[in-house]
Amino acid sequence: MEKVLNFIEGEFREPVGVAFLENYNPATGQVYSLVSQSETQDVDMAVVAAKKALPAWKKMNADDRFRILNRIAELIERDLDKLAAAESRDQGKPVWLAKTEMQRAAQNFRFFATAAMQFASESHQTDSRAINYTLRQPVGVVGCISPWNLPLYLFTWKIAPAMAAGNCVIAKPSEFTPFTAYMLGALCNEAGLPAGVLNIVHGLGSGVGQAMVEHPEIKAISFTGGTATGRHIASVAAPMFKKLSLELGGKNANIIFADADLKEAVKTSVRSSFLNQGEICLCGSRVFVEKPVYEKFKAELLEELKQLKTGNPEDDAVRVGAIVSKQHFEKVLSYIILAKEEGGVVLTGGEAVTPAGFEQGWFIAPTVIEGLGWNCRTNQEEIFGPVITLIPFETEDEVLQMANSTAYGLATTLWTGDLKRAHRMAEALETGIVWVNCWLLRDLRTPFGGMKQSGVGREGGWEAMRFFTEPKNVCVAY
Ligand code: NDP
Repeated sequence: MEKVLNFIEGEFREPVGVAFLENYNPATGQVYSLVSQSETQDVDMAVVAAKKALPAWKKMNADDRFRILNRIAELIERDLDKLAAAESRDQGKPVWLAKTEMQRAAQNFRFFATAAMQFASESHQTDSRAINYTLRQPVGVVGCISPWNLPLYLFTWKIAPAMAAGNCVIAKPSEFTPFTAYMLGALCNEAGLPAGVLNIVHGLGSGVGQAMVEHPEIKAISFTGGTATGRHIASVAAPMFKKLSLELGGKNANIIFADADLKEAVKTSVRSSFLNQGEICLCGSRVFVEKPVYEKFKAELLEELKQLKTGNPEDDAVRVGAIVSKQHFEKVLSYIILAKEEGGVVLTGGEAVTPAGFEQGWFIAPTVIEGLGWNCRTNQEEIFGPVITLIPFETEDEVLQMANSTAYGLATTLWTGDLKRAHRMAEALETGIVWVNCWLLRDLRTPFGGMKQSGVGREGGWEAMRFFTEPKNVCVAY
């Protein structure tokens, strides 16, 4: 069985303890590869390699760094089909969707390689007596920890700006979805990335992840994952004053006003609820609909969902693939049971499905529930699966209060034909991202991240370049 090995100092290495975890294909429920179960010693070795590579990498001419990172982007594109097939097998998502994410992974490298070339520093004159300028220096050795939902896309979203800014990286993908990060190691070597600039250590969060956060030589941690894990990481990192970027969970509202283009709102709500099996931190899981159009929206949504095929990830017509792991599959199903106990009425879905040929896989039918109050557990806790609730509302103030009444603050989608209302709502919503009459239109230059328990800091564009650099002000008198 193929082994997912660590990538340290440009070499593929078995973990020091020679222990491996089983890696499952969620569509078949079968083990298909073994993942290195690394520990503290493996992280230590990766840090030694990164420290060795750091002086040359941070001094490298920006143009040369640009060329290497751009080359990685080209190689991802060359191997797009292979990477997408591997991502789908590891994560459960449809292959066609994985292809779009692999393009985005390539784009992450291209975008941040270019950003590094244009990352200007500030300068300020002091009363004709002195000039101040700000050096933006790499932080040093940094850690990047990523989740399982958009594996290579989120992995590269972190490592690309970190390397572009001149840092050397220790990175840990989720042990549920390590395969494309493993494949990336070979592409980095082919692109001529110097050994030790990127080190990938596989294993459990409680082992490798914890060792990274505790390591005194890893000066910053960029983490995307659940809020509970983020809270734990913050508590471990705080005594060391380690730089932290935390992109955490969400319980996003999708708000449909009666004056919206209903057809467009229905079509996009299907995507924003069920793309990637609802396993995207930005998916809207609480759908608030203004009362005059509630029944019409519901009927059209349910009609549209009849077309949504669940099953074989290799089938281009399939829109909903398998749930990433057995644990997560059971967690999502337990929330459907909870919703019923809380008085919810399942309008469609509500159960596991077994597509022909995939009887052992972990599939859940797209599920729509109504009849729940905005403050019940189902409407407050992150489910992170193909489950949404419909909630009617009467006024703008009422929906604003309900939308904001959650511990999370990641994203909101608004559907309205009233421009003034759109601006008013966007200003009042307590989320880091607001989409108006669209969803998941991403521009890599924009700040990305959440408020409240959805995280600390932002990624994307200059935000990422700032996070991965230390500003140093130099004041020169003349
Ligand atoms: P987890 O928090 O369980 O894990 C995220 C990563 O952290 C994994 O690599 C995990 O490793 C690792 N980890 C776990 N424990 C520790 C620890 N003690 N120290 C260091 N690292 C640790 O999240 P999931 O993988 O379940 O991802 C789903 C979550 O991610 C959802 O809550 C979702 O909302 C959020 N997310 C947020 C996004 C955002 O931008 N705000 C984007 C995408 C997802 P291991 O897998 O081995 O446990």
